[in-house]
Amino acid sequence: EVILSVKDLTAEVDGVQILNGLNLEIKAGEVHAIMGPNGSGKSTLSKVLAGHPAYTVTGGEILYKGKSLLELEPEERARTGIFLAFQYPLEIPGVTNSDFLRLSYNSVRKSKGLAELDLIDFDDFIQEKLHVVEMNPSFLSRSVNEGFSGGEKKRNEILQMAILEPTLAILDETDSGLDIDALRIVANGVNHLSNSENCSLVITHYQRLLNYIIPDFIHVMEGGRIILTGDKALALELEEKGYDWLKEEEVLEV
Ligand code: ADP
Ligand code: MG
Ligand code: MG
Repeated sequence: EVILSVKDLTAEVDGVQILNGLNLEIKAGEVHAIMGPNGSGKSTLSKVLAGHPAYTVTGGEILYKGKSLLELEPEERARTGIFLAFQYPLEIPGVTNSDFLRLSYNSVRKSKGLAELDLIDFDDFIQEKLHVVEMNPSFLSRSVNEGFSGGEKKRNEILQMAILEPTLAILDETDSGLDIDALRIVANGVNHLSNSENCSLVITHYQRLLNYIIPDFIHVMEGGRIILTGDKALALELEEKGYDWLKEEEVLEV
């Protein structure tokens, strides 16, 4: 079953075209990684998929479970099972993490026609998830992300992902300078979440994340398109040789 199908996608921001005919298909049960040099359009792709208002799709299509995503607002995309991990998570003073997570979870449950969980049931449910991200329960009673370290914000974001159980999880780790612990938490989250009914798109500048997540496919982006697709071996080759050889050899789109 195809979950995400991106065809000939072009998109611009502030009148500048960044995506230049991008094609990508992700099936249920698959983990895909996108790598590529700085400025190749990786974050733009994730923002376009999430429906960020600053980005305009100028051509092509994005189908999610066979239906166009383009008309859907970001909130609607989230409710239908698309999760985007933000590179710079919001701080929400005055709202406890526990309330925030319970509200987002209940909003997804509601859209699936399920009953909302009350405080006590949610508390039971969240304990197992805390374990996945190795997070101390005391973080639940603190304001969302307020005063959290970078690694704690990352844990919190992956906790949110583990709770929402998205059908399509998009993680943009580029430029975020994750330490090894945070990388491991992200990877545990993705590995824990993965099953035959969902899929993940992991965007990273660095090969080292792929020591912890074994993707089914690795794509290289350059100039706003995917120019090469391979498996784990490709990540090792990129680690060793960098990206420049791709340009020199003018690798054709696969
Ligand atoms: P990556 O995540 O691969 O590093 P980005 O998607 O962040 O790449 O950026 C792709 C290109 O889009 C870069 O050349 C960047 O300078 C350009 N870009 C991003 N935002 C804007 C903007 N608001 N106006 C013009 N160009 C932009
Ligand atoms: Mg960048
Ligand atoms: Mg980026």
